[in-house]
Amino acid sequence: QKFMTGLKKTSTQFVGAISDLFAGRSKIDEDLYEELEEILIGADVGVTTTMELTERLRSEVKERKIKEPSELQPLLMELISEMLSDKQRESKLNLNEDGLTVILFVGVNGVGKTTTIGKLAHRFKSEGKKVVLAAGDTFRAGAIEQLETWGERVGVDVIKHQAGADPAAVIYDGIQAARARKADILLCDTAGRLQNKVNLMEELKKVYRVVKREVPDGPHEVLLVLDATTGQNALIQAKQFGEAVNVSGIVLTKLDGTAKGGIVIAINHELNLPVKLVGLGEKADDLQDFDADQFLHALFK
Ligand code: GDP
Repeated sequence: QKFMTGLKKTSTQFVGAISDLFAGRSKIDEDLYEELEEILIGADVGVTTTMELTERLRSEVKERKIKEPSELQPLLMELISEMLSDKQRESKLNLNEDGLTVILFVGVNGVGKTTTIGKLAHRFKSEGKKVVLAAGDTFRAGAIEQLETWGERVGVDVIKHQAGADPAAVIYDGIQAARARKADILLCDTAGRLQNKVNLMEELKKVYRVVKREVPDGPHEVLLVLDATTGQNALIQAKQFGEAVNVSGIVLTKLDGTAKGGIVIAINHELNLPVKLVGLGEKADDLQDFDADQFLHALFK
């Protein structure tokens, strides 16, 4: 249900255009394929993924001897579903069932890291888990306070240092505090400034090393947060962060704010990483596990 409302823009514009295209044509020809490619690229499915998708569509049309444009929509849905399910086998969050789970959040400023941490803290708390937050973004003005606000709202502890402090030291303290308080889950915020990328990546590597050293099987997840409204830029960011830390999954935020939800397909296909969570609004419960089937049904309902 959340998916339906959250994906409304994408569903009406992107899928609407596809339906209109298939309904408005009397035969399947080159012209139709070209227009379909334009629609897919326009919805941020990405050039590489679009080409592969239409290539598969053409060959299935031949093989199944499909003649009617109206038969293309279920076929396209089937092909997208295949493409998504390839990468979605591990879409569930990896949690340590008998000890502390440590999750790192990385991503550039403004993508929704802090908000996602707040939402996830809310979810875990309502499942009866004990959650601690670590304010590892010591660089962005206001980031620590913003995390504290979420902590208060949701009712979980926040471990922090002063602005400008060493993020690795904050995360170290977070781990010790989480252990002392017998917490189940530690959610770690990190900086996302882009002014000095080399510096940021070194900082993230250090945070990652500290977690690895302190928590033998951690971090249990390194979630790269990407903003769905930034389109193909999100793919570029993913490559950069992937070089610094071992990203285990994607959180795609602000899907509610875009008509270009096709970015999910591109991210999934081109990054070889599962989308684990999607953000569908600004409130505490506007976070969903990503489920490829539900996603497609919400789109093509
Ligand atoms: P950070 O810099 O990565 O920590 O980003 P923030 O968590 O501060 O988020 C930046 C802005 O995006 C805030 O105004 C959030 O309320 C908003 N935001 C985050 N996630 C979502 C989402 O899923 N949907 C919408 N519409 N807004 C979101």
